[in-house]
Amino acid sequence: MDLYEYQGKELFGRYGIPVSEGRLATSAQEARAAAAELGGTVVVKAQVLTGGRGKAGGIKLAETPEDAEAHAGEILGMDIRGHTVTKVWVETASDIEREYYLSLTFDRSAKQPLFMITTQGGVDIEEVAATSPDALVRLHVDPLEGCHPWHARRLVYGAGIEDPSEQKQVAAIVAKLYDTFTGSEAMLCEINPLIVTPDGEVRALDAKVTIDDNALFRHPDLAELRDVDAADPLEALAREKGVTYVRLDGDVGVLGNGAGLTMSTVDVVTFVGGRPADFCDLGGGGDAQGVVDALEVITRDPQVRSIYFNIFGGITRCDEVARGILQALEQMGIELPIVVRLDGTNAEEGRRLLGESGAANVHPEATMLDGARRAVELAAG
Ligand code: GDP
Ligand code: MN
Repeated sequence: MDLYEYQGKELFGRYGIPVSEGRLATSAQEARAAAAELGGTVVVKAQVLTGGRGKAGGIKLAETPEDAEAHAGEILGMDIRGHTVTKVWVETASDIEREYYLSLTFDRSAKQPLFMITTQGGVDIEEVAATSPDALVRLHVDPLEGCHPWHARRLVYGAGIEDPSEQKQVAAIVAKLYDTFTGSEAMLCEINPLIVTPDGEVRALDAKVTIDDNALFRHPDLAELRDVDAADPLEALAREKGVTYVRLDGDVGVLGNGAGLTMSTVDVVTFVGGRPADFCDLGGGGDAQGVVDALEVITRDPQVRSIYFNIFGGITRCDEVARGILQALEQMGIELPIVVRLDGTNAEEGRRLLGESGAANVHPEATMLDGARRAVELAAG
């Protein structure tokens, strides 16, 4: 479960991580009152469960309560990457000297929590990892040993933080972030940016927290923070239709049968340089209607430029899948290119059906890798 920034900050506050004072507002008038109460310059921030709010225009500084009201009016109702803004967080604005990045996530392959820190914060961390990997310091913590002052020192020195007061503050935040992470059974606690003010004060300016769904029963106070309205609208539609669907942020719609094959398909699309738009699993024994439902969900995502069907027929019969594709094409008038790789039970029959249909946007491919390449090409073209 993802927490909103304001909820994450509230959680940080409980564990002693410094955050700015703020108020939640659901209307422009409330934002104005909040700004008046806080006094001075405030920042009005869209509360949505997605990143990049700054770039999308969802974060604005306001010098007066009137400004705050006007900005909140613009931000409320705004669509940020498919999420409608219904709440804004109004907090005392900070002066920023430097922006760092600090996160603690669960590294599944190492089976240990992993700290990451860099003094090049504020921007997309993936960008830092890609362009200056040396600037990103990584350190695992053995969960049986726990987090000790030496972990914090390693991170602080590794990142090249030189000012002694800053070192001390960041080290304290490292320890408290570990407490937050373990105390709330989080999968991710990310502070981007962790700022240094001109007065040398270190503070969390943003909060991204994901709680382990499987541990929520132990944290009723966190469980009740779940906002059912805010679930991704496509994921909600999928749940309604009984389609197993997880939205990702690329442009190649991925559809497979079985979680393993679908996961591999996502990997292969990434491997050939593409970006999957989703993970969609038809499951075993998928029928034509299941295919139609899945396609309806996938094509509802405006980012999708091509679709890759990767089916290995076992219980699922490939001819049935082909019928589903053709039925969906007919019912929904899909114009997006659809790459289809059918293998296994009744694959020949399935390919024959697709071939005979003469649908110009259906592209059969024989192997998983070729199919991925084709789908990525078509998404780009
Ligand atoms: P995100 O874009 O969704 O990650 O939202 P953030 O909360 O990280 O804010 C994005 C950027 O807005 C930050 O990196 C800052 O540059 C800027 N920003 C946010 N809050 C303040 C503030 O209080 N003062 C100033 N000057 N800039 C801010
Ligand atoms: Mn941020």
